[in-house]
Amino acid sequence: MLNQLNVRVTLPLPRTAMVIGGGVAGCAAAHALAQQGIAVSLIDRASHLASGASGNPRGILHARFGAGDNSLHQFVLAAYQHALKWLDEVLPVDGMARAQCGLLQLACNAVEVKRIGRLAQQTWPPQLMQFVNAKQASELVGIEMQFGGAWFPAGGWVVPPVLCAKLVSDARITQRLGHHAESLVKTPTGWQVLGQTAQGIAWQEEADVLVVCCAHAAKKFEQFAHFKLTSVRGQISVVAQTPASEALHAVVCGDGYCAPSVNDEHVLGATHAFDDESTEVRNADHAENLAHLKRYSPALHQALGEKAVEDWQGRASVRCSAPGSMPLVGRVDEGLYCSLGHGTRGLLTAGISADVLLAELCGLSAPLPQNILDELAPLHRVSTPRPRV
Ligand SMILES: Cc1cc2nc3c(=O)[nH]c(=O)nc-3n(C[C@H](O)[C@H](O)[C@H](O)COP(=O)(O)OP(=O)(O)OC[C@H]3O[C@@H](n4cnc5c(N)ncnc54)[C@H](O)[C@@H]3O)c2cc1C
Repeated sequence: MLNQLNVRVTLPLPRTAMVIGGGVAGCAAAHALAQQGIAVSLIDRASHLASGASGNPRGILHARFGAGDNSLHQFVLAAYQHALKWLDEVLPVDGMARAQCGLLQLACNAVEVKRIGRLAQQTWPPQLMQFVNAKQASELVGIEMQFGGAWFPAGGWVVPPVLCAKLVSDARITQRLGHHAESLVKTPTGWQVLGQTAQGIAWQEEADVLVVCCAHAAKKFEQFAHFKLTSVRGQISVVAQTPASEALHAVVCGDGYCAPSVNDEHVLGATHAFDDESTEVRNADHAENLAHLKRYSPALHQALGEKAVEDWQGRASVRCSAPGSMPLVGRVDEGLYCSLGHGTRGLLTAGISADVLLAELCGLSAPLPQNILDELAPLHRVSTPRPRV
C-alpha cells in the first residue's frame, strides 16, 4: 500500500489539515493525508469537485519520456510507474471510469522521430514501453497508422471527476464546496484561511497544516505571488463515433490525442493558449484539434467522417504550468505546503506529488530521490522580484 511508506524520521503527525482546491492535485493530497488519520477540510470555491482543469470527461495517462536522462525525464518515468499502482488502488480499471487500453505515441514529426528514436536505443521493460513500426501500430490500435512509434501497453484513460470523487470519499475528509479562499494567515499553531462563500458570507477556518492546490489561482495569495505559474488555456473536443472510428481501441497521440469511443463518443485533445484564462468553447479550437488529428492520423481523421465543428461538444479550462514542466511540490513555510503547476499531465503527477507532500509532512520515506525532490521544492523555484533601477 502506498500509504504504508517506511517511517524515516518520526514527526508528530498534524491532527488537522486544510487543502485548498478540489481538483486532482487537491483531492490526491487530501486522500493521502486522510489515509494517515489526519482530519482534512477540503475547500473549493466551486459548487462541485473537479470544476477546473480536472473536469474533463476523459484524460489520458500520457508519459512523454525525454530522450536525455535529466530530472524531468526521471520524474515523468517515476510518476508514470507510481500512477499505475496508485490508480489500481483508487480507481481500478472498469472500462467506464478508467481503461488500460494501451497508448501509442506516434513518431509523426521530426521532433518525435528524434525523441522516440533515441528512446528506442535504450532497453525498456516491455510492459512499460515497446517500439513498433506502422504496421504493428495499426494492429495495436485497430486503425491504419502511417507512422510507428512508442507503445505503452499499460497506458489508457481515466475520467478525472470520478477519480476526484473517489479520492475524497473518506469520512476523515470534510468537503467545503462553494468556499472561496481569499487570504492565508499564519497563526501560533498553524494556518488560518479566510474567505467568502458563494452567498457572500465571510468564513474562516484553522488547521495545523495548509496545502494549497488551487492551480494558477494560488498566485492571488500573498505567500504565492512570486511563484512563476503560467495559465495555459486548453480545449478538448467530444466527437461522435462512426462505424469506422469504432474500430479504434487504444489511445493515439501525435501533437494531440484521440481516445477510443465510450458511450459512442471520442475525446480529441487538446489546444494550448498561453495566458488565456477564458473557458468559452470555441469552434476555432475544435478545428485546431481536428487539423492536428489529420496530420498525425489521416486514417482516423477520415474514419471520423466529415463533420461541421459547429455541432461539436467540448470543454475548455485552464492548466497551470510551472517552469521546466515540473510541478511545485513541497514546503513553502512552516506548516504551509503546495502541489501546483501540474501542467499537461496532472493525472500522472498528482498521486506521486501527494506522496511527496506526505513524506515531507509526516517524516516518511519520499517516493523520489533527493535530486528530484530538490527540483520540485517550491522554495528552490521562487522568483524574487527584481529591484527597480
Ligand atoms: C484541455 C485540457 C486537457 C488535458 N488533458 C490531460 C490529459 O489528457 N492527461 C493529463 O494527465 N492531464 C491533462 N490535462 C491537465 C490536467 O487536467 C491538469 O494537470 C490537472 O487537472 C491539474 O489539477 P489541479 O488540481 O492542479 O488543478 P484544477 O483541476 O484546476 O483544480 C484547482 C481547483 O482549485 C479551485 N480554486 C481555485 N482558486 C480557489 C480559491 N481561491 N478558493 C477555493 N478554491 C479555489 C478551483 O475551483 C479548482 O477546482 C489537461 C488539461 C486541459 C486544460
